[in-house]
Amino acid sequence: KQPVLELQNVSVGYDSPAGMVQAVNDVTLKIYENTIVGLIGESGSGKSTLGNAIMRLLKNNAVLTSGTIKVLGKDIYSLNKNELRKFRWSQMSMVFQSAMNALNPVLTVEEQILDVFLSHDKNMSKTEAKMKAKELMDIVSIDPRYLRSYPHELSGGMRQRVVIAIAIALDPKLVIMDEPTTALDVVVQRSILDKIKEIQRVKKYAILFISHDFSLVSEIASQVAIMYAGRFIEVTDSKSLIPSERHHPYTQGLLRAIPHLTAEDVTIEGIPGNPPNLVDLPSGCAYHPRCPFAFDLCKKERPQIRKVDGRDMECHLYETVQGGV
Ligand code: ATP
Ligand code: SF4
Ligand code: MG
Repeated sequence: KQPVLELQNVSVGYDSPAGMVQAVNDVTLKIYENTIVGLIGESGSGKSTLGNAIMRLLKNNAVLTSGTIKVLGKDIYSLNKNELRKFRWSQMSMVFQSAMNALNPVLTVEEQILDVFLSHDKNMSKTEAKMKAKELMDIVSIDPRYLRSYPHELSGGMRQRVVIAIAIALDPKLVIMDEPTTALDVVVQRSILDKIKEIQRVKKYAILFISHDFSLVSEIASQVAIMYAGRFIEVTDSKSLIPSERHHPYTQGLLRAIPHLTAEDVTIEGIPGNPPNLVDLPSGCAYHPRCPFAFDLCKKERPQIRKVDGRDMECHLYETVQGGV
């Protein structure tokens, strides 16, 4: 079966005064319909850059330096302007990071939703578009009377629902969601997450769900890609995201960094050290300066992807010793 999204050795760099920022570094992934894949990693690991690259909405100083990105079998970077305009939003869409604060403040919710319909279908009447806007509000559980409201008149949770409504307006096959619930309080976060799951079940979307929250991602996604310094250092099914399973040392660190809630206290064990400089990546395995298991080879050679217990991992431990961490 054809994947909805297919990334093959994708790298993206930003031109900067200090040199090329290697934000995404040789990542490969497939997402099929009716599947949610989580993308997780620390701040600056390249998550949003990858999302923007898939949408072909990279910043001006960014370039796809290698690889191919296919959505529904179409190479996104070989489409001409017109083809891309038709394809984007109707077949693939994205909820941008902090998008709920980027809604146009001088347009009502309805005007912003109508704009999506009317700009993509020149033959659609305004009456039909208005009807569809109402349906959309229904899907994301907002009272249609808020269609006449301006963004500032809505709560954060409602604005985020509007942003999601806009992303699914044309019923795309692929939806990228970049931190769709961050910045919302826990209760609202929960209701949005439930809403996303519900919509996904009905529409059978392929979703790339970007987050830095492990518990969130393992709950919503069936598969999770863990990104470090632009690379997928591990791709695993989410069920096995527990510290007792054999994981990449960075994944182990992240799993331990999840807050442990007990009756008396909350403890968070972070990963010591900082993410590397993406202009001047550490030699070999980029994680070696922070890795408690690092050994000679780690500084010299970049580990290759290898299957370990059914997951993809980039770590020398799993190549040289039986068992690993
Ligand atoms: P966060 O969790 O904070 O959203 P992220 O994983 O989405 O982080 P990106 O925003 O993709 O990370 O950034 C990846 C790297 O690219 C970072 O080191 C960032 O500083 C760098 N970067 C992002 N945008 C630009 C730009 N326009 N020019 C140069 N470097 C950039
Ligand atoms: Fe650690 Fe080496 Fe594995 Fe990198 S390759 S994660 S440094 S053990
Ligand atoms: Mg981001």
